[in-house]
Amino acid sequence: MKQYDYLIVGAGLFGASFAWRARQAGKTCLVIDRREHAGGNIYCEEIESIHVHRYGAHIFHTNNEQLWRFVNSLVPFNRYTNSPLANYRGELYNLPFNMNTFHQMWRVCTPAEALVKLEEQRAAARRRLAEQGVDEPRNLEEQALLLIGRDIYEKLIKGYTEKQWGRDCTELPAFIIRRLPVRMVFDNNYFNDAFQGIPIGGYNLLVDKLLEGCEVRLGVDYFTHRTELDNLAEKIVYTGEIDRFYDYRFGRLQWRTVRFDTEVMSMSNYQGNAVVNYTERDVPYTRIIEHKHFECFGADVDKNPHTVISREYSTEWQPGMEPYYPVNDEYNQDIADRYKQLADQETNIIFGGRLAEYKYYDMAPTMEKAFSIKIGG
Ligand SMILES: Cc1cc2nc3c(=O)[nH]c(=O)nc-3n(C[C@H](O)[C@H](O)[C@H](O)COP(=O)(O)OP(=O)(O)OC[C@H]3O[C@@H](n4cnc5c(N)ncnc54)[C@H](O)[C@@H]3O)c2cc1C
Repeated sequence: MKQYDYLIVGAGLFGASFAWRARQAGKTCLVIDRREHAGGNIYCEEIESIHVHRYGAHIFHTNNEQLWRFVNSLVPFNRYTNSPLANYRGELYNLPFNMNTFHQMWRVCTPAEALVKLEEQRAAARRRLAEQGVDEPRNLEEQALLLIGRDIYEKLIKGYTEKQWGRDCTELPAFIIRRLPVRMVFDNNYFNDAFQGIPIGGYNLLVDKLLEGCEVRLGVDYFTHRTELDNLAEKIVYTGEIDRFYDYRFGRLQWRTVRFDTEVMSMSNYQGNAVVNYTERDVPYTRIIEHKHFECFGADVDKNPHTVISREYSTEWQPGMEPYYPVNDEYNQDIADRYKQLADQETNIIFGGRLAEYKYYDMAPTMEKAFSIKIGG
């Protein structure tokens, strides 16, 4: 008999959710993380009494009512609704593209007027391709012009996308933008899900609740103490990078990353909204996040004389940097599939979460996936 039923490598949302389920089933868990804090990428750092999303802005959203009730039973969530703005050379536009955006762009007031403008611009893009004898869009720029027309493309898509990818839109493949949903109503709510919000008091409270009753050791890298740790538990749940687990034998998986430049400001309200995208190419950052607006509303915003903002810079990933987004190309998918084949053969190790599966997961699907794993008898 080993000391624990499960060794859980990674105290992120996947590891913590699995730990909660295992505890409910009466299992003992040792959870380790190489970072000095639990929570993985949803961890919040407190600065000037504001919960700062250290690894990028996180908004919980789901259509799963049962999951929504569950997370609220651990920590009540607030009524935050994600409604980002775009700033193009000082002009402000609502996102996602909806009647407010069309009014700001063209001064149109009704859906019928907006559709006429959209169709005019789409037709111009179709004509231009036809004149060149082109049937299918050859790059992201041509695709976007067909879907949404020149005005929105140039002001709200082009510069932002080029900063994100570090390349001109004419050099990016068309498939990156398959659809550009437009809403013919005045609705700035970014998500279509029925439920969204932020835990009152921040995400750390949610993670602490999920980990209740487990032993948690922080600042411990699995690979530094692998044999010793393996001997402590019957089964392992591994949520770290899969290529590292197998000593990079098929090569390194690549990622896209973001650099955050966080600043404390001596003012109560910097931009009046949690998320503002900067859509012109000359501004080096893609977004500014003002963290207090995730949890503080109305007149309460001015009660704290400070605010904290993070400028986000899309950065080329190098080994050693934070891995944020998997690169969905053939080269990386092929390597990931080869690692997955090895992982599928393991009998005592469960691989889960964004790093081990080399897959982007929002928070709700991460929890659903962790809860779906059968706890051993
Ligand atoms: C910039 C950004 C913004 C996002 N915004 C949203 C959002 O608004 N809404 C939403 O629903 N989702 C969002 N997500 C997704 C969300 O972050 C993920 O769903 C969630 O973090 C996945 O949890 P995880 O446990 O799989 O991974 P992680 O949070 O990365 O946790 C993995 C943990 O494993 C630890 N670990 C790895 N290797 C080892 C090792 N060798 N030894 C010990 N510990 C190890 C790591 O330190 C880490 O703490 C966003 C993601 C990014 C990148």
